[in-house]
Amino acid sequence: MKYVLEENEARCLECGDPLPYGRSDRKYCSDRCRSRYHNREHLRWRRRFAWVTGILERNYEILSHLVRMGVASIAKTDLAQLGYNGEFLTSCRKIGRRMVCHCFDIRFEETPSKIQHLSQDRLAGEPDDNH
Ligand SMILES: [Zn+2]
Repeated sequence: MKYVLEENEARCLECGDPLPYGRSDRKYCSDRCRSRYHNREHLRWRRRFAWVTGILERNYEILSHLVRMGVASIAKTDLAQLGYNGEFLTSCRKIGRRMVCHCFDIRFEETPSKIQHLSQDRLAGEPDDNH
């Protein structure tokens, strides 16, 4: 007789084995499967987080270098050549007709072709350069 999988039969998220009937909240067939699943998901999360923070770090490096050089405005094409990735910033919001963005404490306005008014915010509690 052919085994037919019921449409909403619950299966273990790790190994895919059918789960015993009864508890609908159950997701794994065993503790081993549960911990294997969580370990893998955690590793995936760590890798993804490291990848995104790497991009943000690079963006921050490029922008702080420009601030130190006294550059207040730069074409997006030039930024891209420096390795900047504008898809990843820490904030962007529309204030009136301006798009004001931050990469951590560096603030700038974004237009379709360039970024401008590049500056570094003064923050309360900022570490002192003299110490
Ligand atoms: Zn399992």
